[in-house]
Amino acid sequence: MSKKYAVIIVGGGIVGATAACALAQAGVDVALLDARNPARTWPADPIDIRVSALTRASQNILRAVGVWDAMEARGIGAYDHMHVWDAGSAGVLHFDAADTEFPELGHIVENRVTVACLWDQLDLLPSATILCPAIVEDLQLSADSAQITLSDGTILVADLVIAADGRDSALRQMAGMQTTGWEYKQDGLVATISSEKSHQFTAWQRFLPEGPLALLPLKNGQCSIVWTLNHDTAQAYLNLSAADFLQTLAHATEGILGKMLTVGPRGAFPLRFQYAQQYSSDHFVLIGDAAHAMHPLAGQGANAGLLDAAAIAELIIKANQAGRPMGSHKTLRQYERWRKGDNLAMMASMDVINKMYTTHHEVLRQLRGTGMSWVNHSAWLKNYFNRYAMGLRDDLPEMARGI
Ligand SMILES: Cc1cc2nc3c(=O)[nH]c(=O)nc-3n(C[C@H](O)[C@H](O)[C@H](O)COP(=O)(O)OP(=O)(O)OC[C@H]3O[C@@H](n4cnc5c(N)ncnc54)[C@H](O)[C@@H]3O)c2cc1C
Repeated sequence: MSKKYAVIIVGGGIVGATAACALAQAGVDVALLDARNPARTWPADPIDIRVSALTRASQNILRAVGVWDAMEARGIGAYDHMHVWDAGSAGVLHFDAADTEFPELGHIVENRVTVACLWDQLDLLPSATILCPAIVEDLQLSADSAQITLSDGTILVADLVIAADGRDSALRQMAGMQTTGWEYKQDGLVATISSEKSHQFTAWQRFLPEGPLALLPLKNGQCSIVWTLNHDTAQAYLNLSAADFLQTLAHATEGILGKMLTVGPRGAFPLRFQYAQQYSSDHFVLIGDAAHAMHPLAGQGANAGLLDAAAIAELIIKANQAGRPMGSHKTLRQYERWRKGDNLAMMASMDVINKMYTTHHEVLRQLRGTGMSWVNHSAWLKNYFNRYAMGLRDDLPEMARGI
């Protein structure tokens, strides 16, 4: 006995759950599958180590799917300045929300807050079905439909299966889609810290020889750090005593926030550059990290995935309204053309920046310092980079534009 849905989404992280909300809100019969039930509630403290800097475009999408107010109610931190400086040159860059038409440059949000609010919203949408825990054992794609077999033998059929199951996507492998990429041999070390001086609602980033160190301002006055380090250094820093770690961190930040006072649990995530060579196949499409994994130095992975979710939802809803099949080759190719170029451009620029700032080449070091000062003194260039970092690019999905 099989069950049929218009769309099945595998993976209920930030990206998959957003796509599910967008489709269900438009009345599309959608099933969201995940292997794990995400936490919906937790004790007031401490703040989770996994946070994301979300752009204005992402804020627009999350508002459009009806969860931004709930996220604000649970607690998110706005930042209105960004300060970037280079340990290897005199380069400094400073961005100020006052130079934009918006009150802030972005928000720092715990990933669990975004996911919990999206799942709460799905509970309220009659067109949405959550199947969890659900383990996908098999995927069959044909010219007519897609079929999924779960580990308990349940068979699900859909016009379209969307894989949003993260960078090690099992669905992508089942569909036989190849990836290109490499391991950075760097880890992103994350932790929540408190410091002597206020974070001043500023996202701080210092480029160090092994990679950038970001201090992201949290709503409660603490900062979330994302520190790119060579793998061995990251592992060593995980094992430092709290006191030694805090001293190392204060040194690495040049004491910009004064003494470092406390640090919570630390975690390290191996970083990878990876993109799927194709995003779509018969009745099957990739979104989010399943399609692309990028360096976190500019905090763009989830933001790019949210644009994927908004784009595929917009195309599916329009196809449905026009009476066309949702999983048609035409619709999926349109999505692939729309999102692949933008994602590759973003990934390539992250990769170039990472290489530029970890180089020991003296001429390149001087050049990057000059380049930063140049941008910092040009209102036009600053405005361009500001808008790009806020996700306000050309050709955005309607939801991302706040329409
Ligand atoms: C250190 C670090 C810092 C970062 N900072 C930022 C930032 O500031 N801003 C930003 O935009 N991005 C940031 N990112 C990137 C961001 O975290 C990811 O791009 C984003 O979380 C990807 O979301 P996703 O929903 O595509 O995938 P995931 O979050 O990986 O979600 C995948 C979901 O699929 C489920 N799943 C997996 N396999 C299966 C299966 N076989 N069957 C069923 N379900 C399955 C999982 O349980 C999970 O719920 C950062 C990344 C790192 C490592």
